[in-house]
Formats: sequence, structure tokens, C-alpha cells
Amino acid sequence: MIISVTGTPGVGKTTLSKLLAKRLGYEYVSIKEFAVEKGIGTKVGNELEIDVKKLAEAMSREFRGKNVIIDGHLSHFVPADLVIVLRAHPRLIAERLKERGYPEEKLAENIEAEFVDVVLVEAIGENENVLEIDTSGKEPKEVLDEVLSLIHAGIRRRVGVVDWSSSYEEILPYLRVRA
Ligand code: ADP
Ligand code: MG
Repeated sequence: MIISVTGTPGVGKTTLSKLLAKRLGYEYVSIKEFAVEKGIGTKVGNELEIDVKKLAEAMSREFRGKNVIIDGHLSHFVPADLVIVLRAHPRLIAERLKERGYPEEKLAENIEAEFVDVVLVEAIGENENVLEIDTSGKEPKEVLDEVLSLIHAGIRRRVGVVDWSSSYEEILPYLRVRA
């Protein structure tokens, strides 16, 4: 089974993906590493721009029929049996990305994306089997257990578990007001 783990940068994808791969005995695959290895990405400044169509084709060729966990914020564009969309309160995303030294503009962009459910909406557009998990205030182990219990219960779709709209005032200072 191919399981993709997606979500806004800083949400905890890599942490969960590695735990999940270990627990299920699946291969762990980072999209970024895969793209570099296969020459699918183009370096633009500090960033790796990935051709999503090429990525999906290459991953599909490589992993069809295998047991893998695909980690990356583009992983919901890769053919998968199940997409796990991690969510975290925009305040947590802000704290973590600040820690990573993200410039203000990228910080704002990602906080806004989490706030308005960008990745969830994209994932739902791509795949029927989507599990949305709120990680806020949960230890990685608790997130892992929640995912495993949904999978083991045979649940393949659960969305609509968070709504950050009531936090607008709190996160407003982070959002860059566009001219
Ligand atoms: P991503 O791969 O989505 O960018 P990471 O897995 O690298 O996110 O996690 C970002 C940061 O948040 C790391 O410092 C990680 O240790 C921390 N983190 C991840 N999951 C949790 C969690 N459930 N609770 C608290 N901190 C977490
Ligand atoms: Mg990561």
C-alpha cells in the first residue's frame, strides 16, 4: 500500500512518516530526496521546484505495488492508496517555521495556507481516501496511534476535523497584508 503524508510545512510530516514507516515496516521515501535523485527538481535559488506531473509518474513507476510511506507537502499529488493530511494550529506552524529561519514572506504564506485548508482541499480534489488528523497538542506517538487506529478500523475517509477561522485575530499579525 502506498500511503502519502502531506500537510503544510512544519506540521510534522517527516516525524510521523518515519514513525509510521517503522511501525508498519514500510519503506520511507522523502519526495525531496527522490526528486533530487531522479533529477526531477530544478533548483531555483534555495528552493527545489518540482514538476508535479513528472514526480507523480516517476513515483508511480517506482512504487506501484510496494509498501511505502511518501513524505512531502506534494505527496497528495502522487497516486496513493491513502492520503494522510496532517493539520496543526497556525500558531504552531508559525513557531516551528520561525525556528527554521523561514523569511517573513514564506512564513506568512504557509500560515495562511494552513489557516484556509489549502492542502486538505487539494488532497480531497486528488483522492477519495483522505484521513485528516489534527496534531495540535498531541505528541508524535499520539498522532501515530490515531493514524494507526483509523487505518486498522478500515476508515479511509475522515475530513473536516479542524476549523481555524476562530483564530483569525490571533494569527492576523503573521499574515502579510498584500498591497
Ligand atoms: P514537516 O516534515 O511537516 O515539515 P517535521 O516533522 O519536520 O515537519 O516537524 C517540524 C517540527 O515540529 C520538528 O521540530 C518536530 O520535532 C516538531 N514536531 C513534529 N511533530 C510534532 C508533534 N506532534 N508535537 C510537537 N512537535 C512536533
Ligand atoms: Mg519534512
